Amino acid sequence: MDKIIRCITSDGAIMASAIDASDIVFTAKKLHNLSRSATAALGRLLCATSMMGNMLKQQDAFINLRVLGDGEMGAVVAVGDSRGNVRGYVENPGCPTEYYRSGKINVSQAVGRNGTLSVLRDYGTGDPYIGQVELVSGEIAEDITSYYATSEQIPTVCALGVLMNKEYGEVMLAGGLLIQLLPGAYDEAIDRLEENVKKLEPVTTMLAKGMSILDICKTALDGFEVEVLDENPVNYVCGCSREKLERYFMTMSDDDIRTMADEKGVAEAVCQFCSKRYTFTKDDLEKLIQEKNA
Ligand SMILES: [Zn+2]
Repeated sequence: MDKIIRCITSDGAIMASAIDASDIVFTAKKLHNLSRSATAALGRLLCATSMMGNMLKQQDAFINLRVLGDGEMGAVVAVGDSRGNVRGYVENPGCPTEYYRSGKINVSQAVGRNGTLSVLRDYGTGDPYIGQVELVSGEIAEDITSYYATSEQIPTVCALGVLMNKEYGEVMLAGGLLIQLLPGAYDEAIDRLEENVKKLEPVTTMLAKGMSILDICKTALDGFEVEVLDENPVNYVCGCSREKLERYFMTMSDDDIRTMADEKGVAEAVCQFCSKRYTFTKDDLEKLIQEKNA
């Protein structure tokens, strides 16, 4: 079961969040039949989105991250709620996979180095705050760091990883770490954190060693007294339903609703986030029109 944790140093200088999202990324790959590069890109974005969503305090708040580069991947999209539950998709799930010489998947090439990372935060008011930065590398973690530095002026360290079985490409481990300096950060704390970060191993390496997400935060915050703010399970959750879809259809014109049906008189909608199929017969659509105009 996946878990997310938020910690703070007791001197109030640094916040750290870590996630084990192995099941979430495994689920995403299966739902969307993702190639290896698409699994790595969406998996990393899901980890980041979960940690960023989990920082939102308002219960109804949600966050939407969208990476759009000039590579073959097309858009990579993830949505998270304030508990850290996430869902997402990529435009081209079959995106070809290239490797760096080290054997690592070249996510940068698949996503593209030129493009944008957009972050939309809705605090449950329906009046979202939107920030956007140019991509730094398309490797996702560096782009998240750049977003915080540029758009929010918060010094941030972000590490994201997806480990796949070399032979079959199955997701074995996925996780992330997000460290932020708080307004109470002082020079000595910053220096110590920098030293810790230099020594940090990749998140999936630490998970593979059997380290818990708390162990990972404590390693990143070595030398500080660490307090756990909260730790809770997280899942791949899609909130789609037939009722929500019907409500959406009812915002359309009568003609637009009628033209959705094909020659056989059936309209089919597939959820982008979980691939669930919803079918509506001509009669279903006529009933919706009647209800709408009642
Ligand atoms: Zn869905």
